[in-house]
Amino acid sequence: MVADDIAPGIPLAAIDTPALIVDLDALGRNIARMAREAAAAGIRLRPHAKTHKCAEIARLQVAAGAVGVACQKLGEAEAMVAGGVGDVLITNEVVAPVKLARLAALATRAQIGVCVDALDPARALSAEATAAGVEIDVLVEIDVGQGRCGAQPGAEAAALAAEVAALPGLRFDGLQAYHGAAQHFRTPADRAVAIARAGALTRETLEALATRGLDARIVGGAGTGSYPLEAASGVWNEIQPGSYVFMDADYARNTPDRDHPPFEHALFVLASVMSRRKGGHAVLDAGHKAAAIDSGPPVPHGLPGAEVTQMSDEHTVLKGADLALGQTVLLIPGHIDPTVNLHDRMIGIAGLGTPEARVDRILTVDARGAMT
Ligand SMILES: *Cc1c(COP(=O)(O)O)cnc(C)c1O
Repeated sequence: MVADDIAPGIPLAAIDTPALIVDLDALGRNIARMAREAAAAGIRLRPHAKTHKCAEIARLQVAAGAVGVACQKLGEAEAMVAGGVGDVLITNEVVAPVKLARLAALATRAQIGVCVDALDPARALSAEATAAGVEIDVLVEIDVGQGRCGAQPGAEAAALAAEVAALPGLRFDGLQAYHGAAQHFRTPADRAVAIARAGALTRETLEALATRGLDARIVGGAGTGSYPLEAASGVWNEIQPGSYVFMDADYARNTPDRDHPPFEHALFVLASVMSRRKGGHAVLDAGHKAAAIDSGPPVPHGLPGAEVTQMSDEHTVLKGADLALGQTVLLIPGHIDPTVNLHDRMIGIAGLGTPEARVDRILTVDARGAMT
């Protein structure tokens, strides 16, 4: 934990670096825009909380109309429930017996859903839920093209759903049909092809469910890169975008033509120049312990022509901008989710980009390191 004097009201310039900074104005616009789009499409919005891992932001999303949040890990779900979120779907398989007991315990405190793609863990979860006296919502996950988790679409998934529906303590609630890889396909045409195929497989599964007399109350999926397609498909009725709240540099590369809904970058690593040379060479005091680089290095914000040429644990070399010693730079992370997970807190700034920029509040990364 950090012991310092960051408190509401202090100016941006007084923040020590590196620090993770949230543009609260942009965050608010992003949350409102996605809520408006979901409402206009007549579709449920369940934002993915793995992006921000922050119960306070989850509560803002729910206040704007989200039905709850999605989580990837049980530990994230526990952090969201502890932070006051009443409806959480784990969009992932949970198998270990020790986790199933925790899952059932969590369901005594909030509305909890989870994905399954095999019968044995569903049976074990049924036993835990029955012992705890709770009912857990279960979505059967189908593999709609990523080749990762999920039952085979169609008859196989419907057979699993029928078994789940018969288990006490579980409520068969529908299908999870998420194509994660498609989120980062670079062209809109490639994304459209992938989601059309995913939609056809999901429709086929819904028909197989119907022949067994089963109804899918929820058909969930979609992320920031594809959600307009799922929302317009008539197949999905609940979308789970996560990255839209903050928008990373990788997502910006998906939309070079700017025809994508204009979500704004709202998360930055604030770094300072710790060494410089003539000719536009500056070294910043934040490396890949402060910003994840699995989707490429961060992109300097508002410094056209400048780029990261080198990054190590605690250093980032910027070329192409003439910066002074001590000058601060905002870096747009290449990939948000693992960047957030490197920090205990995010510093919420009001008026970023104006001379009045100030700390408004500290946002705790409640689910930092919640890997189990
Ligand atoms: C990550 C994830 C999302 C959100 O994806 P973004 O690209 O961050 O918007 C949605 N659903 C599931 C199941 C996910 O794993």
